[in-house]
Amino acid sequence: MSLRSGREFLSIPGPTVIPDQVLASMQRPAVDIYSGPMIALTDGLLADMSKMFRTKGRSYIYIGNGHAAWEGALTNVLSRGDKVLVLESGRFAIGWGEAAKMLGADVEILPGSFRAAVKPEAVESRLKADTKGEIKAILVAQIDTASGVVNDIKAISDARRAAGHDALLMVDTVASLGCMPFEMDAWGVDVAMSGAQKGLMTPPGLSFVAGNARARAIHPKADMRSPYWDWTAREGELHYHKYNGTPPEHLLFALRTALDMIFAEGFENVFRRHSLLAEATRRAVSLWSEGQDLGFNIIEPAERSDTVTTILMREGLSPEALTQFCNEQLGVVLGVGIGALSGKGFRIAHMGHVNAPMILGTLSVVELALSALKMPHGKGGVQAAVDYLASEIAA
Ligand SMILES: *Cc1c(COP(=O)(O)O)cnc(C)c1O
Repeated sequence: MSLRSGREFLSIPGPTVIPDQVLASMQRPAVDIYSGPMIALTDGLLADMSKMFRTKGRSYIYIGNGHAAWEGALTNVLSRGDKVLVLESGRFAIGWGEAAKMLGADVEILPGSFRAAVKPEAVESRLKADTKGEIKAILVAQIDTASGVVNDIKAISDARRAAGHDALLMVDTVASLGCMPFEMDAWGVDVAMSGAQKGLMTPPGLSFVAGNARARAIHPKADMRSPYWDWTAREGELHYHKYNGTPPEHLLFALRTALDMIFAEGFENVFRRHSLLAEATRRAVSLWSEGQDLGFNIIEPAERSDTVTTILMREGLSPEALTQFCNEQLGVVLGVGIGALSGKGFRIAHMGHVNAPMILGTLSVVELALSALKMPHGKGGVQAAVDYLASEIAA
C-alpha cells in the first residue's frame, strides 16, 4: 500500500522547493536583451545580491551552478602557484579546494572533521606559522551540506586578524545565504559565493560571487582570470557584458520574484523561521536517538546548522531502506548521506521555501517509516517538535 499520491515533499538540501509564484514568473515570452526593462532587471538584481551578501562590494551573476561560482570566485583573485588554505568540515570546502588545485593553486587542507565545525584556534595557529605570508586565500563553507555543520565565519575572520595575516577570506554560502545571517562586510569576508537553488528558492542554473574592495584591488593581477568569469569584462558598459553573453532571462525573472519574497518577509523573520524549523527537527531527532540506533552527525549541538540536519544510523540499519520507503510509500524525498557519510545516514533539509506543515509532515513521515520498518528508535519525536514550536510561537 502506498500513500504517495498527493503533493511530493522534496526534502533534499537543493534544489529546494520552488515557490509557485517563482515558477509562475517564468511563464512569459523572452524579451529584448538590449532594452530598458531587462537592463533595469539586471541592475536591480546585482544591487540586491549585494544586499543579500550584506556588502557594499560588487556582485556578479553567473549562468551555472555552485561549482561554477567556485571557479568564478577563484579565477578572479588568484594566480597560479598561490597557496590556498582549505578549512575542512565536511565535503564542500574540500571540493572547492579541488577546483583551486586544478586551476593551478597550491592547495593545503587544514585537517578538520566530518563531525565538527572548523576550529578558529587551529586557523589562527596555522596562519601565525605562515611567517612568509605564503597563504593567499582561505576557503571555507558557512554551512556544509554534507556534514550539516555551521561554521562561525566571524570567529574565523577574527582568527585571521589575531594572526595578523592578510590572506583573502573566501566563503561558500550556497547552503546558508537567505537562511541565516551572513555579514560579508561586517565580518571581513573578502569574497563570497552562492547558488540559486537552495535558500534562494530559484531553479538551479544561476550562481553569484561578490568581491569587496580588497578582492577587487587584487583582481587586476590575478593570472587565473579567464574570459567567461572575468569581473573586469562583466563591469563593461553594455548590458550584454554583465553576463558575458545572453542573459538567462527566465531564471532572472524567477530570482526577482524569490528575492522579493525574501524582502517582503524580512530577513529577521526568514532567519527565525529557519531556526525554529531546524530546532523542531533537532527535537525530533533527539528523541529518536535515545537508544543510539541513530543520532546527529554533528556532535556539538551549537554546531548543527539551521538548513540541513544530517543523521547517522548505526551499522546494521539501512538508510537506503528508510529513504526508499519514505519516497516510494509516503511521498517524502529525503537527502541521502554523501561524501564520508555515503550509505551511513540521511539528511533532512529545512531550507528555503519551508513552513510548519512541510517540516512537521516530513518528521511525521520519518517517524512513521522508522516504525513501519521496525527500526529501533525513541518514540515521541514528532510530539517534541510540536511542543517546541507551540511554546516558541505561543500568542
Ligand atoms: C550545493 C552546494 C554546493 C554546490 O552547488 P552545485 O549547484 O551543486 O554545484 C557548494 N557548496 C555548498 C555548501 C552546497 O551546499
